[in-house]
Amino acid sequence: MEMKSRIQEKYKTIFGEDAQLFMSAGRINLIGEHTDYNGGFVFPGAIDKGIMAEVGVNGTEKVKAFSLDYDEYVEFGLDEEDKPDQAWARYIFGVCRETIKRGGKVEGFNTVFAGDVPLGAGLSSSAALESTFAYALNYIFKNGIDKFELAKIGQSDEHNYCGVNCGIMDQFASIFGKKGNLIRLNCKTLEYKYFPFDPKGYRLVLLDTCVKHELASSAYNKRRASCENACRAIQKNHPEVEFLSDANRAWLEEVRGQIPEEDFLRAEYVLGEYQRVLDVCDALEREDYETVGELMYQTHFGLSRLYEVSCEELDFLNKLARKLDVTGSRVMGGGFGGCTINLVRDELYEPFIKEAKVRFAEKFGHEPKVYDVVISDGAHLVTD
Ligand code: ADP
Ligand code: MG
Repeated sequence: MEMKSRIQEKYKTIFGEDAQLFMSAGRINLIGEHTDYNGGFVFPGAIDKGIMAEVGVNGTEKVKAFSLDYDEYVEFGLDEEDKPDQAWARYIFGVCRETIKRGGKVEGFNTVFAGDVPLGAGLSSSAALESTFAYALNYIFKNGIDKFELAKIGQSDEHNYCGVNCGIMDQFASIFGKKGNLIRLNCKTLEYKYFPFDPKGYRLVLLDTCVKHELASSAYNKRRASCENACRAIQKNHPEVEFLSDANRAWLEEVRGQIPEEDFLRAEYVLGEYQRVLDVCDALEREDYETVGELMYQTHFGLSRLYEVSCEELDFLNKLARKLDVTGSRVMGGGFGGCTINLVRDELYEPFIKEAKVRFAEKFGHEPKVYDVVISDGAHLVTD
C-alpha cells in the first residue's frame, strides 16, 4: 500500500480521527564537497524520497508518536527532562524543544509517520525527519518562524539531542528544496540561489558502495586542519582572507614553499571546487549537462587524488562510469565510502547499472545498492 494511505489508516486506527499531512525530503549534493567549512558553496537539492507525517493537535501536554517503519509507539512530554530513549523519537523531541527555545508555541500533538529515504546512505533521512516536524509544528501552531530558522531547528536538534555535529546543508536543502531546482548555498554568507535542474534525457542515480571505512572522522579533522593551515599562511600576505575559499590560486602559489605539500594539495582541491560549483551553475543556465558531468568527474579526481578522501570501492565505480561513457560521476559526501552520484543518459542507464552491479560484486563480494533520484519539493503541506 502507498505510504500515504498506510499513514492515514494507522492514524485513524490509533487516534480515531484525521489530521493534516506534511512531508519533507532527503537530499543530494550535485557538487561542492568539503567546501562548507572552507566558506565555499554547496549545491544540494531535495529528492523524491522523504518522510511523511500526519500531525494533529491533541489538547494534552504530551506528544503521542507512532513510527510505522519501526512499528513503535512512544509518548513524551515537552520539557527538557522528557527526552525519550528511542533515537527516532529524540529527533522529534528535539524539534519540539528547539522550536520552544525560539519562542514558538508547541503543545501536545499526535503523529503517525513513515519514510522512504534509505537510512545512513548519505541522503540525510534525519534531516528529512527533522524538517518534516519543524515545518509541521510551525504550521499547526502558527508560529511564523522563517524558513532559515526552521532549517536551524533541525541542525540544532542534531547538535543538542542526537549527538551529530552537522552543518546546515542537509536541513537547508530539505526545507528550501524545490522541484526541478538545485540551490547554491554560500556557506560563508548563507546567501542562496536557485538554479534549474531538469535534465531531460538524463537520469540521476546513486550507487551505494555499502562500505564505510574507519578513517572517516580522523581524516576529516586532518583535512580541516590542513585547510586552516593553508588559510593562515595566505592570511599573512592577504589579511582580508577569512576562509580558504576567499583566496585565489595565485595567493595559494605564494605560500607553496611555506606549508607542507600535503596541505597545498588539499587547498588546491578546495579552490578548484569553488570554481567548479560556479562553472556548473553557468552550464546549468545553458542546459549543458555534458559540461556539468565533466565537472563532476573533475571533482571526483580532486577528492581522490588531491584531497584523498576516496577509497577503492568509490574509485572503482567512478572509473567504470567513465569507461562506459556515463556523463558525470563522483563520490558524494565526506568520502571513505557511501555513494557515487551519477548523471547518466537514458539509453546508458540500464547497461551502466547492470555492469556496475556485476563488476562491483565480482571485485568486492556484494552489489552496490541503486537509488534513483529526481529533484523534488522540500518541506510542504500535502494537499492532494
Ligand atoms: P542519514 O545519513 O540517513 O541522515 P542518520 O544516522 O543521520 O542517517 O539518521 C538516521 C536516523 O534517523 C535513524 O536511525 C532514525 O532514528 C531516524 N530516521 C530516519 N528515517 C526514519 C524513518 N523513516 N522512521 C523513523 N526514524 C527515521
Ligand atoms: Mg543524518
